Amino acid sequence: MTSANTTPGLVCAHHHLYSSLARGMPAPKIAPHNFLSVLENIWWKLDAALDHYMIYWSAALGAAEALLSGTTAIIDHHESPNCIEGSLDVIHAACTDIGIRVIPCYGVTDRWNDDGRLQEVKASSPITRGARLGFAETERYLATGKPAMVGVHAAFTCTDETLETASQLSERFQTGVHIHVAEGPDDRGAESRLQKYAKDNWLIVHGVHLREPIAGTIVHNPRSNMNNAVGYARPAQWKNRIALGSDGIDSNMMSEFQLAFVAGRANDISFSPDLAWGWLFNGSQLVPETQNDVVTWNYPHMDSSWHIAYTTSLHVTDVSINNEYVLSEGSLTKVDLGEVRRKAEEQSQRLHHALAMSE
Ligand SMILES: [Zn+2]
Repeated sequence: MTSANTTPGLVCAHHHLYSSLARGMPAPKIAPHNFLSVLENIWWKLDAALDHYMIYWSAALGAAEALLSGTTAIIDHHESPNCIEGSLDVIHAACTDIGIRVIPCYGVTDRWNDDGRLQEVKASSPITRGARLGFAETERYLATGKPAMVGVHAAFTCTDETLETASQLSERFQTGVHIHVAEGPDDRGAESRLQKYAKDNWLIVHGVHLREPIAGTIVHNPRSNMNNAVGYARPAQWKNRIALGSDGIDSNMMSEFQLAFVAGRANDISFSPDLAWGWLFNGSQLVPETQNDVVTWNYPHMDSSWHIAYTTSLHVTDVSINNEYVLSEGSLTKVDLGEVRRKAEEQSQRLHHALAMSE
């Protein structure tokens, strides 16, 4: 680090930029009673309602807020089952317009049958039309040469054929698979179906209910895990590289570090902030270019995990990516933040209206 009030660019190793428009959404009519009902009643209805306008402004808002909190790269996991083709281009365009790095993927799944209805997935069933479209979008985007990953929702919503296809595609393009693993009880045992495919370049997201080792970087999302009451992942138990993600809650990785520390302490009084600090900066191994990004903070001890673990009101004043200032004295340089918020609000209202109509 060049001086104590700067850090390299932070990396959000697992995001869902499409969730930016969920804020302020009316509460679901049926209160969720477990993690699967959160998915079914909130997220799987929301992603089914997305169109290109919503995807663009959701990504733009998430990207803008990421820069404001010192995050210079987002590894995104996207799903929009009724608007798949071109969706990764839209996310890339929004992030580029804001000035942030993005490594997108399309989260392939077989949970929608060929009539567009939710279904329970058997491992032995044939691959669905929706999964094929997801792979087609992935392949099309990877062929452009832009950084990206092969996305899979989770083993429990995928057939064996889909998991195998994801593995083959990632091998062909020499990129990893970005997949939720054992986040909640419904995906317990996922590792037994994935171990034969997983490689060091995979992103194993959550791993809360993981029992056996699996190759890849484990992405820890403590805020999301608390929000969904799925339990504490105890990432320190694994030898894997650990990185931090927000799982779509926001893009503030310094907050995620602080919570990763508190969650670690709640589980073990000897948990050191240095450990969670290491997880935060492991993100730079996933997107090495961020090591040259410079984030300037309003605080002089940004090289000390023991300071940051207990310091509130940290603010980012400037961000430079590829030697270009994308945030200067607290203002975005490429876009007007007020305009981004206004446009996102319009799309948010459209999305909430579409969700109300679907009930
Ligand atoms: Zn996620």
